[in-house]
Amino acid sequence: MTGRYWNPILETLPREELRALQLRKFKRIFKWAYENSKFHRALYDQAGVVPEDIRSFEDIHALPKVEKSMMRDIQRKNPFPYGDALCVPLEEVTEFRQTSGTTGQPVYQPDTWQDWEWWAESWCFILWAQGYRPTDRVFIPFGYNVFVAFWAGHYGAEKLGCEVVPGGVLDTKARILKIQELKATAMMATPTYVLGMADTARNKMGIDPASLSINKLTCAGEPGAGIPTTKKRIEEAWGAKVFDHAGATEIGAWSFECEDQPHGMHVNEGLFLVEIEDLETGKIIEEPGRRGKMIITALDRQAQPCVRFDSKDIIEWDPDPCSCGRTFRLIKGGVVGRSDDITKVKGVLLAPSAIEEVVRGIRGLGDEFEVVVDKVGDVDCIALKVELVPGTESLREEIEGQLVDQLRNKTNLRYNLSFHEYETLPRYEVKAKRFKDLRKAH
Ligand SMILES: [Zn+2]
Repeated sequence: MTGRYWNPILETLPREELRALQLRKFKRIFKWAYENSKFHRALYDQAGVVPEDIRSFEDIHALPKVEKSMMRDIQRKNPFPYGDALCVPLEEVTEFRQTSGTTGQPVYQPDTWQDWEWWAESWCFILWAQGYRPTDRVFIPFGYNVFVAFWAGHYGAEKLGCEVVPGGVLDTKARILKIQELKATAMMATPTYVLGMADTARNKMGIDPASLSINKLTCAGEPGAGIPTTKKRIEEAWGAKVFDHAGATEIGAWSFECEDQPHGMHVNEGLFLVEIEDLETGKIIEEPGRRGKMIITALDRQAQPCVRFDSKDIIEWDPDPCSCGRTFRLIKGGVVGRSDDITKVKGVLLAPSAIEEVVRGIRGLGDEFEVVVDKVGDVDCIALKVELVPGTESLREEIEGQLVDQLRNKTNLRYNLSFHEYETLPRYEVKAKRFKDLRKAH
Protein backbone atom coordinates (compact mmCIF):
# COMPACT_ATOMS: atom_id res chain seq x y z
CA MET A 1 0.00 0.00 0.00
CA THR A 2 2.42 2.67 -1.18
CA GLY A 3 0.66 3.98 -4.28
CA ARG A 4 -1.07 7.23 -4.91
CA TYR A 5 -4.59 5.84 -5.18
CA TRP A 6 -6.81 3.80 -2.88
CA ASN A 7 -8.32 2.04 -5.91
CA PRO A 8 -5.83 2.50 -8.77
CA ILE A 9 -8.08 0.90 -11.39
CA LEU A 10 -11.28 2.81 -10.65
CA GLU A 11 -9.65 6.15 -9.94
CA THR A 12 -7.77 6.25 -13.25
CA LEU A 13 -10.33 4.53 -15.45
CA PRO A 14 -10.54 6.25 -18.87
CA ARG A 15 -13.56 8.58 -18.94
CA GLU A 16 -15.42 6.55 -21.52
CA GLU A 17 -15.17 3.36 -19.47
CA LEU A 18 -16.08 5.23 -16.30
CA ARG A 19 -19.23 6.60 -17.94
CA ALA A 20 -20.14 3.15 -19.22
CA LEU A 21 -19.70 1.76 -15.71
CA GLN A 22 -21.93 4.52 -14.27
CA LEU A 23 -24.65 3.74 -16.78
CA ARG A 24 -24.49 0.02 -15.98
CA LYS A 25 -24.58 0.64 -12.25
CA PHE A 26 -27.40 3.17 -12.57
CA LYS A 27 -29.58 0.65 -14.40
CA ARG A 28 -28.90 -1.88 -11.67
CA ILE A 29 -29.77 0.41 -8.73
CA PHE A 30 -32.83 1.76 -10.57
CA LYS A 31 -34.13 -1.77 -11.12
CA TRP A 32 -33.39 -2.59 -7.48
CA ALA A 33 -35.36 0.45 -6.25
CA TYR A 34 -38.20 -0.19 -8.73
CA GLU A 35 -38.58 -3.80 -7.66
CA ASN A 36 -38.12 -3.39 -3.90
CA SER A 37 -39.33 0.05 -2.83
CA LYS A 38 -43.03 0.86 -3.02
CA PHE A 39 -42.16 4.54 -2.83
CA HIS A 40 -39.88 4.43 -5.89
CA ARG A 41 -42.22 2.11 -7.77
CA ALA A 42 -45.12 4.56 -7.38
CA LEU A 43 -42.93 7.49 -8.43
CA TYR A 44 -41.77 5.78 -11.63
CA ASP A 45 -45.15 4.24 -12.44
CA GLN A 46 -46.63 7.71 -12.32
CA ALA A 47 -44.01 8.89 -14.82
CA GLY A 48 -44.67 5.83 -16.98
CA VAL A 49 -41.12 4.44 -16.88
CA VAL A 50 -39.87 0.91 -16.29
CA PRO A 51 -36.23 -0.19 -15.85
CA GLU A 52 -35.98 -1.42 -19.46
CA ASP A 53 -36.60 2.14 -20.71
CA ILE A 54 -33.21 3.34 -19.48
CA ARG A 55 -30.61 3.05 -22.24
CA SER A 56 -28.66 6.33 -22.08
CA PHE A 57 -27.77 9.26 -19.84
CA GLU A 58 -30.51 11.24 -21.64
CA ASP A 59 -33.01 8.67 -20.38
CA ILE A 60 -31.62 9.13 -16.85
CA HIS A 61 -31.89 12.94 -17.06
CA ALA A 62 -35.60 12.60 -17.84
CA LEU A 63 -36.43 10.46 -14.78
CA PRO A 64 -38.29 11.98 -11.82
CA LYS A 65 -36.19 13.43 -9.00
CA VAL A 66 -36.61 12.60 -5.34
CA GLU A 67 -37.05 15.63 -3.08
CA LYS A 68 -36.24 15.66 0.61
CA SER A 69 -39.86 16.57 1.38
CA MET A 70 -40.98 13.31 -0.28
CA MET A 71 -38.64 11.35 1.98
CA ARG A 72 -40.02 13.21 4.99
CA ASP A 73 -43.58 12.22 4.08
CA ILE A 74 -42.88 8.48 4.13
CA GLN A 75 -41.09 8.48 7.50
CA ARG A 76 -42.42 6.98 10.74
CA LYS A 77 -44.73 4.71 8.75
CA ASN A 78 -44.50 1.00 8.07
CA PRO A 79 -42.08 -0.62 8.30
CA PHE A 80 -41.46 1.64 11.26
CA PRO A 81 -39.65 4.01 11.40
CA TYR A 82 -38.48 4.21 7.79
CA GLY A 83 -41.57 3.81 5.63
CA ASP A 84 -41.88 2.23 2.23
CA ALA A 85 -38.61 3.23 0.54
CA LEU A 86 -37.02 0.44 2.57
CA CYS A 87 -35.79 -2.22 0.13
CA VAL A 88 -34.72 -4.95 2.55
CA PRO A 89 -36.42 -6.83 5.39
CA LEU A 90 -36.20 -4.79 8.59
CA GLU A 91 -33.99 -7.40 10.25
CA GLU A 92 -31.24 -6.73 7.71
CA VAL A 93 -30.93 -3.11 8.87
CA THR A 94 -27.94 -2.69 11.18
CA GLU A 95 -27.50 1.10 11.26
CA PHE A 96 -29.87 3.93 12.16
CA ARG A 97 -28.92 7.52 11.35
CA GLN A 98 -30.90 10.69 10.78
CA THR A 99 -30.39 14.00 9.03
CA SER A 100 -29.63 17.03 11.18
CA GLY A 101 -33.04 18.56 10.48
CA THR A 102 -31.68 22.09 9.96
CA THR A 103 -34.27 22.60 7.20
CA GLY A 104 -37.20 20.72 8.76
CA GLN A 105 -38.21 17.34 10.21
CA PRO A 106 -35.23 14.96 10.17
CA VAL A 107 -35.20 12.08 7.68
CA TYR A 108 -34.35 8.63 9.02
CA GLN A 109 -31.77 6.58 7.18
CA PRO A 110 -31.41 2.82 7.48
CA ASP A 111 -28.30 0.97 6.28
CA THR A 112 -27.51 -2.72 6.08
CA TRP A 113 -24.10 -4.04 7.10
CA GLN A 114 -23.19 -4.17 3.40
CA ASP A 115 -24.18 -0.49 3.08
CA TRP A 116 -22.06 0.33 6.10
CA GLU A 117 -19.09 -1.43 4.46
CA TRP A 118 -19.77 0.72 1.42
CA TRP A 119 -19.69 3.87 3.62
CA ALA A 120 -16.30 2.84 5.03
CA GLU A 121 -14.97 2.02 1.57
CA SER A 122 -16.08 5.39 0.18
CA TRP A 123 -14.25 7.12 3.04
CA CYS A 124 -11.08 5.17 2.20
CA PHE A 125 -11.00 6.93 -1.21
CA ILE A 126 -11.23 10.28 0.60
CA LEU A 127 -8.67 9.64 3.30
CA TRP A 128 -6.11 7.96 1.05
CA ALA A 129 -6.36 10.88 -1.43
CA GLN A 130 -5.69 13.27 1.46
CA GLY A 131 -2.53 11.48 2.51
CA TYR A 132 -3.84 9.29 5.34
CA ARG A 133 -1.72 6.15 5.71
CA PRO A 134 -1.60 3.27 8.21
CA THR A 135 1.09 5.20 10.15
CA ASP A 136 -1.42 7.94 11.04
CA ARG A 137 -3.02 8.34 14.43
CA VAL A 138 -6.41 9.95 13.74
CA PHE A 139 -8.25 11.91 16.42
CA ILE A 140 -12.01 12.30 15.92
CA PRO A 141 -13.51 15.08 18.07
CA PHE A 142 -17.12 14.23 17.35
CA GLY A 143 -20.05 13.51 19.66
CA TYR A 144 -20.83 10.04 18.26
CA ASN A 145 -24.63 10.16 18.07
CA VAL A 146 -27.63 9.80 15.74
CA PHE A 147 -26.02 11.99 13.07
CA VAL A 148 -23.80 10.22 10.56
CA ALA A 149 -21.17 13.01 10.58
CA PHE A 150 -17.76 11.36 11.15
CA TRP A 151 -18.97 7.87 12.06
CA ALA A 152 -18.12 6.60 8.59
CA GLY A 153 -14.84 8.53 8.62
CA HIS A 154 -13.98 6.57 11.77
CA TYR A 155 -14.71 3.21 10.10
CA GLY A 156 -12.96 4.31 6.90
CA ALA A 157 -9.79 5.30 8.77
CA GLU A 158 -9.79 1.92 10.54
CA LYS A 159 -10.30 0.06 7.28
CA LEU A 160 -7.38 1.94 5.76
CA GLY A 161 -5.21 0.86 8.67
CA CYS A 162 -4.92 4.06 10.71
CA GLU A 163 -5.05 4.06 14.48
CA VAL A 164 -8.29 5.82 15.46
CA VAL A 165 -8.86 7.75 18.68
CA PRO A 166 -12.56 8.47 19.32
CA GLY A 167 -12.82 11.94 20.90
CA GLY A 168 -16.46 11.29 21.89
CA VAL A 169 -17.92 13.15 24.84
CA LEU A 170 -14.67 14.83 25.90
CA ASP A 171 -14.90 18.62 26.09
CA THR A 172 -12.74 20.81 23.86
CA LYS A 173 -9.94 21.26 26.40
CA ALA A 174 -9.75 17.52 27.13
CA ARG A 175 -9.63 16.82 23.41
CA ILE A 176 -6.72 19.19 22.92
CA LEU A 177 -4.83 17.60 25.80
CA LYS A 178 -5.46 14.14 24.32
CA ILE A 179 -4.13 15.25 20.92
CA GLN A 180 -1.06 16.65 22.67
CA GLU A 181 -0.52 13.55 24.81
CA LEU A 182 -0.97 11.01 21.99
CA LYS A 183 0.74 13.09 19.29
CA ALA A 184 -2.19 12.55 16.93
CA THR A 185 -1.32 13.33 13.32
CA ALA A 186 -4.73 13.86 11.71
CA MET A 187 -8.20 15.01 12.62
CA MET A 188 -11.65 15.31 11.05
CA ALA A 189 -14.29 17.89 12.09
CA THR A 190 -16.38 20.81 10.85
CA PRO A 191 -14.51 24.02 9.91
CA THR A 192 -16.41 25.87 12.64
CA TYR A 193 -15.25 23.40 15.26
CA VAL A 194 -11.57 23.28 14.26
CA LEU A 195 -11.42 27.09 14.34
CA GLY A 196 -13.10 27.07 17.77
CA MET A 197 -10.65 24.42 19.01
CA ALA A 198 -7.68 26.50 17.85
CA ASP A 199 -9.12 29.49 19.67
CA THR A 200 -9.60 27.52 22.90
CA ALA A 201 -6.07 26.11 22.72
CA ARG A 202 -4.52 29.54 22.17
CA ASN A 203 -6.61 31.75 24.42
CA LYS A 204 -7.73 29.47 27.24
CA MET A 205 -4.88 26.98 27.51
CA GLY A 206 -1.85 28.89 26.26
CA ILE A 207 -1.14 26.17 23.69
CA ASP A 208 -0.28 27.14 20.13
CA PRO A 209 -2.29 24.65 18.03
CA ALA A 210 0.41 24.79 15.34
CA SER A 211 2.84 23.35 17.89
CA LEU A 212 0.71 20.19 18.15
CA SER A 213 1.41 17.22 15.88
CA ILE A 214 -1.68 17.46 13.64
CA ASN A 215 -0.47 17.64 10.04
CA LYS A 216 -3.73 17.16 8.16
CA LEU A 217 -7.35 18.02 8.77
CA THR A 218 -10.40 16.76 6.93
CA CYS A 219 -13.22 19.28 7.12
CA ALA A 220 -16.83 18.56 6.27
CA GLY A 221 -20.38 19.54 7.23
CA GLU A 222 -20.01 23.14 6.04
CA PRO A 223 -18.41 24.81 3.01
CA GLY A 224 -15.51 26.39 5.02
CA ALA A 225 -12.62 24.27 3.70
CA GLY A 226 -13.68 25.22 0.17
CA ILE A 227 -13.64 28.95 0.96
CA PRO A 228 -10.01 30.02 0.38
CA THR A 229 -9.83 32.58 3.20
CA THR A 230 -11.37 30.23 5.79
CA LYS A 231 -9.11 27.39 4.67
CA LYS A 232 -6.06 29.63 5.05
CA ARG A 233 -7.09 30.62 8.58
CA ILE A 234 -7.40 26.97 9.60
CA GLU A 235 -4.13 25.95 7.91
CA GLU A 236 -2.24 28.78 9.62
CA ALA A 237 -3.80 28.10 13.01
CA TRP A 238 -2.99 24.38 12.99
CA GLY A 239 0.14 24.39 10.84
CA ALA A 240 -1.57 21.61 8.90
CA LYS A 241 -2.97 20.92 5.46
CA VAL A 242 -6.75 21.26 5.28
CA PHE A 243 -8.87 19.16 2.95
CA ASP A 244 -12.48 19.59 1.98
CA HIS A 245 -15.08 16.84 1.87
CA ALA A 246 -18.84 16.90 1.28
CA GLY A 247 -21.26 14.12 2.04
CA ALA A 248 -24.78 13.68 3.38
CA THR A 249 -26.77 11.18 5.39
CA GLU A 250 -29.22 10.42 2.58
CA ILE A 251 -26.49 10.31 -0.09
CA GLY A 252 -23.15 9.08 1.23
CA ALA A 253 -19.56 10.37 1.08
CA TRP A 254 -19.58 11.55 -2.53
CA SER A 255 -16.67 13.98 -2.86
CA PHE A 256 -13.18 14.78 -1.72
CA GLU A 257 -10.33 17.19 -2.18
CA CYS A 258 -7.08 15.40 -3.04
CA GLU A 259 -3.51 16.11 -1.90
CA ASP A 260 -2.86 18.32 -4.94
CA GLN A 261 -5.42 20.81 -3.53
CA PRO A 262 -6.88 21.81 -6.92
CA HIS A 263 -9.31 24.43 -5.46
CA GLY A 264 -12.13 22.00 -5.77
CA MET A 265 -13.25 18.46 -5.04
CA HIS A 266 -13.34 15.24 -6.99
CA VAL A 267 -16.70 13.56 -7.32
CA ASN A 268 -16.25 9.86 -6.61
CA GLU A 269 -17.68 8.88 -9.97
CA GLY A 270 -17.02 5.22 -9.36
CA LEU A 271 -19.63 5.15 -6.58
CA PHE A 272 -21.89 8.09 -7.46
CA LEU A 273 -23.55 9.66 -10.48
CA VAL A 274 -23.72 13.45 -10.28
CA GLU A 275 -25.91 15.51 -12.61
CA ILE A 276 -26.01 19.31 -12.46
CA GLU A 277 -29.38 20.92 -13.15
CA ASP A 278 -29.85 24.48 -14.36
CA LEU A 279 -31.85 26.34 -11.67
CA GLU A 280 -33.97 28.19 -14.20
CA THR A 281 -34.51 25.80 -17.12
CA GLY A 282 -34.30 22.50 -15.25
CA LYS A 283 -32.02 21.17 -18.04
CA ILE A 284 -28.92 19.14 -17.23
CA ILE A 285 -25.69 21.14 -17.59
CA GLU A 286 -22.92 19.12 -19.23
CA GLU A 287 -20.37 21.84 -19.86
CA PRO A 288 -17.94 23.16 -17.23
CA GLY A 289 -18.22 26.63 -15.73
CA ARG A 290 -21.99 26.85 -15.28
CA ARG A 291 -23.52 26.59 -11.85
CA GLY A 292 -26.57 24.55 -11.02
CA LYS A 293 -27.90 22.24 -8.34
CA MET A 294 -26.68 18.73 -7.84
CA ILE A 295 -28.91 15.74 -8.57
CA ILE A 296 -27.13 12.67 -7.25
CA THR A 297 -27.44 8.89 -7.29
CA ALA A 298 -25.59 6.56 -4.93
CA LEU A 299 -24.87 3.69 -7.31
CA ASP A 300 -24.46 0.91 -4.72
CA ARG A 301 -26.50 1.79 -1.63
CA GLN A 302 -29.29 -0.69 -1.03
CA ALA A 303 -31.41 -0.39 2.13
CA GLN A 304 -32.92 3.01 1.32
CA PRO A 305 -31.69 3.89 -2.15
CA CYS A 306 -30.66 7.38 -3.23
CA VAL A 307 -31.74 7.68 -6.87
CA ARG A 308 -31.70 11.12 -8.51
CA PHE A 309 -31.90 12.90 -5.18
CA ASP A 310 -32.28 16.68 -5.36
CA SER A 311 -29.47 17.69 -3.00
CA LYS A 312 -29.87 21.48 -3.40
CA ASP A 313 -26.07 21.82 -3.34
CA ILE A 314 -24.82 24.39 -5.84
CA ILE A 315 -21.83 23.18 -7.85
CA GLU A 316 -20.14 23.51 -11.25
CA TRP A 317 -17.81 21.26 -13.23
CA ASP A 318 -14.17 22.35 -13.48
CA PRO A 319 -12.97 22.45 -17.12
CA ASP A 320 -9.54 21.05 -16.22
CA PRO A 321 -8.54 17.58 -15.13
CA CYS A 322 -6.65 17.32 -11.83
CA SER A 323 -2.85 17.05 -11.73
CA CYS A 324 -3.20 14.00 -9.45
CA GLY A 325 -4.13 11.80 -12.40
CA ARG A 326 -7.57 10.78 -11.18
CA THR A 327 -10.15 10.72 -13.95
CA PHE A 328 -12.96 11.56 -11.50
CA ARG A 329 -14.13 15.06 -12.47
CA LEU A 330 -13.57 18.08 -10.22
CA ILE A 331 -16.23 20.46 -9.02
CA LYS A 332 -14.74 23.93 -8.97
CA GLY A 333 -14.38 25.50 -5.53
CA GLY A 334 -16.32 22.62 -3.90
CA VAL A 335 -19.94 23.11 -2.88
CA VAL A 336 -20.40 26.85 -3.26
CA GLY A 337 -23.79 27.09 -1.58
CA ARG A 338 -27.25 25.62 -1.31
CA SER A 339 -30.11 26.58 -3.56
CA ASP A 340 -32.32 27.17 -0.51
CA ASP A 341 -29.67 29.46 1.13
CA ILE A 342 -29.26 31.67 -1.88
CA THR A 343 -31.66 34.50 -1.39
CA LYS A 344 -32.59 37.76 -3.06
CA VAL A 345 -31.80 40.89 -1.10
CA LYS A 346 -32.82 44.18 -2.74
CA GLY A 347 -33.18 42.20 -5.95
CA VAL A 348 -29.58 40.94 -5.82
CA LEU A 349 -28.79 37.23 -5.44
CA LEU A 350 -26.76 36.69 -2.28
CA ALA A 351 -24.88 33.54 -1.23
CA PRO A 352 -23.90 33.61 2.47
CA SER A 353 -20.55 31.98 1.63
CA ALA A 354 -19.52 35.18 -0.21
CA ILE A 355 -19.78 37.13 3.07
CA GLU A 356 -17.76 34.48 4.89
CA GLU A 357 -15.03 34.70 2.27
CA VAL A 358 -14.71 38.46 2.80
CA VAL A 359 -14.83 38.44 6.62
CA ARG A 360 -12.31 35.60 7.00
CA GLY A 361 -9.95 37.30 4.53
CA ILE A 362 -9.48 40.44 6.62
CA ARG A 363 -6.77 40.47 9.25
CA GLY A 364 -7.99 41.84 12.56
CA LEU A 365 -11.49 40.38 12.30
CA GLY A 366 -12.41 37.39 14.46
CA ASP A 367 -13.63 34.09 12.97
CA GLU A 368 -17.25 34.64 14.02
CA PHE A 369 -19.80 36.86 12.34
CA GLU A 370 -23.56 37.11 11.98
CA VAL A 371 -25.76 38.20 9.10
CA VAL A 372 -29.37 39.26 9.59
CA VAL A 373 -31.63 40.12 6.68
CA ASP A 374 -34.82 41.97 7.57
CA LYS A 375 -37.34 44.42 6.19
CA VAL A 376 -37.77 48.00 7.31
CA GLY A 377 -41.08 49.05 5.78
CA ASP A 378 -40.83 47.67 2.26
CA VAL A 379 -37.08 47.86 2.03
CA ASP A 380 -34.71 44.94 2.61
CA CYS A 381 -31.86 45.68 4.95
CA ILE A 382 -28.92 43.54 5.82
CA ALA A 383 -26.94 43.75 9.04
CA LEU A 384 -23.50 42.28 9.48
CA LYS A 385 -22.01 41.86 12.94
CA VAL A 386 -18.29 41.21 13.23
CA GLU A 387 -15.75 40.96 16.05
CA LEU A 388 -12.39 42.66 16.35
CA VAL A 389 -9.60 40.47 17.69
CA PRO A 390 -7.96 41.84 20.86
CA GLY A 391 -5.31 44.48 20.20
CA THR A 392 -6.71 45.71 16.86
CA GLU A 393 -9.02 48.48 18.20
CA SER A 394 -6.71 51.18 16.80
CA LEU A 395 -6.99 49.71 13.29
CA ARG A 396 -10.77 49.71 13.32
CA GLU A 397 -11.27 52.43 10.70
CA GLU A 398 -8.89 50.75 8.30
CA ILE A 399 -10.56 47.35 8.83
CA GLU A 400 -14.00 48.87 8.33
CA GLY A 401 -12.86 50.48 5.06
CA GLN A 402 -11.59 47.13 3.75
CA LEU A 403 -14.76 45.37 4.81
CA VAL A 404 -17.08 47.89 3.10
CA ASP A 405 -15.07 47.85 -0.15
CA GLN A 406 -14.73 44.10 -0.38
CA LEU A 407 -18.38 43.43 0.48
CA ARG A 408 -19.49 45.86 -2.20
CA ASN A 409 -17.19 44.25 -4.79
CA LYS A 410 -18.11 40.71 -3.89
CA THR A 411 -21.86 40.97 -3.23
CA ASN A 412 -23.07 44.30 -4.70
CA LEU A 413 -24.82 45.16 -1.44
CA ARG A 414 -24.53 47.68 1.36
CA TYR A 415 -24.57 46.47 4.95
CA ASN A 416 -25.28 47.98 8.34
CA LEU A 417 -22.01 47.07 10.00
CA SER A 418 -21.50 46.73 13.71
CA PHE A 419 -18.32 45.87 15.55
CA HIS A 420 -18.53 43.73 18.65
CA GLU A 421 -16.15 42.86 21.38
CA TYR A 422 -14.21 39.64 20.91
CA GLU A 423 -16.13 36.51 22.01
CA THR A 424 -19.53 38.23 22.28
CA LEU A 425 -21.12 36.75 19.12
CA PRO A 426 -22.53 33.22 19.45
CA ARG A 427 -20.07 30.32 19.20
CA TYR A 428 -21.12 27.07 17.55
CA GLU A 429 -19.98 23.59 18.49
CA VAL A 430 -20.61 21.83 15.19
CA LYS A 431 -22.53 23.49 12.37
CA ALA A 432 -22.91 27.24 12.53
CA LYS A 433 -26.11 29.26 12.04
CA ARG A 434 -24.60 32.59 11.09
CA PHE A 435 -27.20 33.62 8.50
CA LYS A 436 -30.68 34.68 9.57
CA ASP A 437 -33.46 35.81 7.27
CA LEU A 438 -36.23 37.40 9.32
CA ARG A 439 -38.27 38.63 6.35
CA LYS A 440 -40.41 35.52 6.18
CA ALA A 441 -41.38 35.94 9.83
CA HIS A 442 -43.26 39.19 9.06
ZN1 LIG B 1 -6.84 15.38 -7.71
